[in-house]
Amino acid sequence: MSEILELSARAAGERIREGELAAQECFAAWVGAAANDDLNAYLWRAGEDGERATHPPLAVKDIFCTAGVPTTAGSRILEGYEPPYTSTAVRSLGEAGVGVLGKTNMDEFAMGSSNENSGYGPVLNPWDLERVPGGSSGGSAAAVAGGLAPWAIGTDTGGSIRQPASLCGIVGMKPTYGAVSRYGMIAFASSLDQCGPLTRDVTDAALLLSLLQGRDPCDSTSVGIDVRSSFEATLHTLEELGGEVGEAPLPSAEHGISAYYVIAPAEASANLARYDGVRFGLRAGDGDLTELYERTRAAGFGAEVKRRIMLGTYALSSGYYEAYYGKAQRVRTRIADDFRSAFERFDFVVTPTSPSVAFKLGEKLDDPLSMYLNDYFTVPMSLAGIPAISIPVGVAEPDGGGPELPVGFQIAGPAFSENAILDAAFALEQAVGFDARPPGVPA
Ligand code: GLN
Repeated sequence: MSEILELSARAAGERIREGELAAQECFAAWVGAAANDDLNAYLWRAGEDGERATHPPLAVKDIFCTAGVPTTAGSRILEGYEPPYTSTAVRSLGEAGVGVLGKTNMDEFAMGSSNENSGYGPVLNPWDLERVPGGSSGGSAAAVAGGLAPWAIGTDTGGSIRQPASLCGIVGMKPTYGAVSRYGMIAFASSLDQCGPLTRDVTDAALLLSLLQGRDPCDSTSVGIDVRSSFEATLHTLEELGGEVGEAPLPSAEHGISAYYVIAPAEASANLARYDGVRFGLRAGDGDLTELYERTRAAGFGAEVKRRIMLGTYALSSGYYEAYYGKAQRVRTRIADDFRSAFERFDFVVTPTSPSVAFKLGEKLDDPLSMYLNDYFTVPMSLAGIPAISIPVGVAEPDGGGPELPVGFQIAGPAFSENAILDAAFALEQAVGFDARPPGVPA
């Protein structure tokens, strides 16, 4: 059993396809591992199945609609909601022989950097149970790092795959905007949201991405492989011009947090208008319609989501639209221009993924701004729509002492440079040889 759990997802899949490992045995081993969830990583877990699987099963952030399975986006407002359809990402993986192991906990509607905004309680970091796993895909990251899942998918709007991957010592990648379909992925900020892999190593990330990406007629912003390869050909031309190591000026990137925390709440305020007690999940109040809306939204949304709705509604209100939303959009354009110029000189832009290692549960809950600042390095790429990966490169002692915790390294590249980023990350991964694991998790 434990031998199965030690295999990388790719290695396990190979054994299944070569008939050396029974798909059901692999599935059952992971169901057993997931049942030991002492991190509050899962909101729902599958029973044993996996007969037709050709890969090990996958932990799915609870933001992906899955027919007949509860889907909450970490919010009480969707408690009891079972979608009538399955998201394209989960459906494509199912067709490729990757079953669903469970649905993972997350910050409510993907708003957060610590998982403490979940309506179903925080997720714990397997490296130190007193610390956050990062967010908003903290359940997926903790499940993979804690040996509760072989691999997982999450979503990243401003860092929500990369930052929890960094804080949990695993690999997390946000693909190019449009590389993976958003159909059936509950919307937070539609022009920023992207699905991507959270895995133990770069090879598994490459494999999972290859199963996820592609054009989907249900998502007009998704892009086909053909378009990708012409982009990649352009990238190769860029590489042939020769790389230069140095500082890439990104003068507008420092305004990324300000722009992101206007644009994302603005889009969220529109996307979340649909949770009104009529069509989904929770319904509170039996008086008139306005009262139904008010009571349902007051009872169903958590504090951070309410804060975002207020910020977003304010930023979009007619008197302030230009001053906030209009300005933020101009900053976004400048950040994209910064990257465009940087990529004329460099193949990649590298940064730390997160300004600190995992912080303690509760440490930043009362201070939204300090929570938001955690996204300093990840938000600019989201605003520019470009891909970036976080891979673990070392461990460091947290401020104030305690056991050593993982440090992530972010590599960003031009749109559709996923293959080049994965190649570079793989080379780095091999050179660094990161083999630390949380206490009790075998290497
Ligand atoms: N931490 C950022 C936020 O709170 C990013 C979230 C995400 O990528 N979904 O909005």
